[in-house]
Amino acid sequence: MAGNEKIDSFEMAKRQVDIAAECLNLDRGSIEKLKSTKRELIVHFPVQMDDGNVKIFTGYRVQHNVARGPAKGGIRYHPDVDLNEVRALSMWMTWKSAVVNIPFGGAKGGVQCNPKEMSLREIEHLTRRFTWEISMMLGPEQDIPAPDVYTNPQVMAWIMDTFSILKGYSVPGVVTGKPVELGGSLGRFEATGRGVVITSVEALKYLKMPLEGAKVVIQGCGNVGGIAAMHFHRLGARVIAISDSQKGLYNEKGLDVMRALEYKAKHKCFVCETKDESEITNQELLELKCDILVPAAIGNQIIEKNAPRVKAKVIVEGANGPTTPQADKILNDRGIFVVPDILANAGGVTVSYFEWVQNLQELIWSEEEVSDRLTRIMQKGFKEVLDISLSKKIPMRTAALVLGIGRVAEASRLRGIYP
Ligand code: NAD
Repeated sequence: MAGNEKIDSFEMAKRQVDIAAECLNLDRGSIEKLKSTKRELIVHFPVQMDDGNVKIFTGYRVQHNVARGPAKGGIRYHPDVDLNEVRALSMWMTWKSAVVNIPFGGAKGGVQCNPKEMSLREIEHLTRRFTWEISMMLGPEQDIPAPDVYTNPQVMAWIMDTFSILKGYSVPGVVTGKPVELGGSLGRFEATGRGVVITSVEALKYLKMPLEGAKVVIQGCGNVGGIAAMHFHRLGARVIAISDSQKGLYNEKGLDVMRALEYKAKHKCFVCETKDESEITNQELLELKCDILVPAAIGNQIIEKNAPRVKAKVIVEGANGPTTPQADKILNDRGIFVVPDILANAGGVTVSYFEWVQNLQELIWSEEEVSDRLTRIMQKGFKEVLDISLSKKIPMRTAALVLGIGRVAEASRLRGIYP
């Protein structure tokens, strides 16, 4: 966390429901239903480590809401994973799918572990055993995982293989974000980063700011941050800083993004290669003067303490929950335009949906088709949220919650309560 502020993501997510519910005039019963998760599974399971010792890991799978379709959401491997974080992330998945009008509900999973200290074999064994442990919740019609922090297409391939072995036949639709060779969609790997850039472009258009030469700062250089950096660079923006969990690289004139990312991929760290480049901390990075700041790492990075020092004109949230409610209020009062996570990073779930559709129908779409459809959906999502924000005179985050939560509440109302 960026400071000492103690933040419970689930409390934060529930508070957001109250804010949207007030705008939507929802009744108490509906609010309570939206705030509660549907199914939660906690598993403790053994993995034999390379040194022969057996280690017990704790994993979670939470389905928040399935009113609009099967549960959908990533699996994260991180030492800080806990039940409340997974609950919050599952809730945000529900709203996110609804904001871009994808017929999915929300779920999330995670295993408390440090994959950086594990071998590939240990990660594979952990993945296969975790998949077995939660397999009763999974399936293309029930719950479909995807990559998240420190999981990737290879991890999805192991999940798909394990689930398929349990069934006795191949079930590609049980996960998205798989390698293309196993039924993954073209364009899925790039989708979240591309979605971040598409919504950034829309925000700049609305604010009448040029993209050409715009100064962009990105926290995190994984799937979301790294891809976003490459696309910003290609479109003529200047990526002046990027970071990993250790440190950031800064060049006021603009980084050579491809070179920095290639070095990072090869050596697992950033290094200054020209006299214009310098190292900065993640804290300094968040406070750099820039046009667009993209937090694309983990949650709770922009908090009450550093929000007054954030100098970005626009913040586009690639990560889930990077801004606390206290910080959000400060950013809003300071007139910083925020494209909230449930809109900005919805490109991932959108192309996951395309992948699932292709798997179920045994179709293969071209990259161009995926890209065109993604662009249209993200632009529409941005416009719908902006329209609500302008008409109701509420911040973009509240507007996105009103759109997403409103759609889920209406689906729940129409379905009614069984029996
Ligand atoms: P990733 O594992 O590919 O990359 C994570 C990045 O964050 C890495 O560069 C890592 O070095 C950096 N990082 C980790 N801890 C950090 C810290 N304490 N401070 C600064 N940087 C740190 O993960 P990703 O898939 O790119 O996910 C990043 C964020 O985007 C997460 O919040 C995730 O939930 C969200 N997200 C991802 C997707 C997706 O499709 N992958 C979709 C929607 C949202």
